[in-house]
Amino acid sequence: MSDDVVVDCEDCAFRETVDALGRARLALADHETKTGHSVDWHIGGVDSGVEQAGADAGVCGIPGAENPDTPLLDWQRTDEEE
Ligand SMILES: [Zn+2]
Repeated sequence: MSDDVVVDCEDCAFRETVDALGRARLALADHETKTGHSVDWHIGGVDSGVEQAGADAGVCGIPGAENPDTPLLDWQRTDEEE
């Protein structure tokens, strides 16, 4: 597994995978500054169980995010919110 970090915008299709958390934060801040969007990030290499736990805990409050098979793809659905 890698330590890739996925930066995923909640308000548009912006999505970027970087290999370091520091870069992820920069990409996140850059996009938020330019667009005013709400950008989230998560570690791409974490165990799916971790993603599942986060979804179950309602961290995101995103319907459908509890799908353990596509934890990354589900984050794109956030553009339906708000
Ligand atoms: Zn965006």
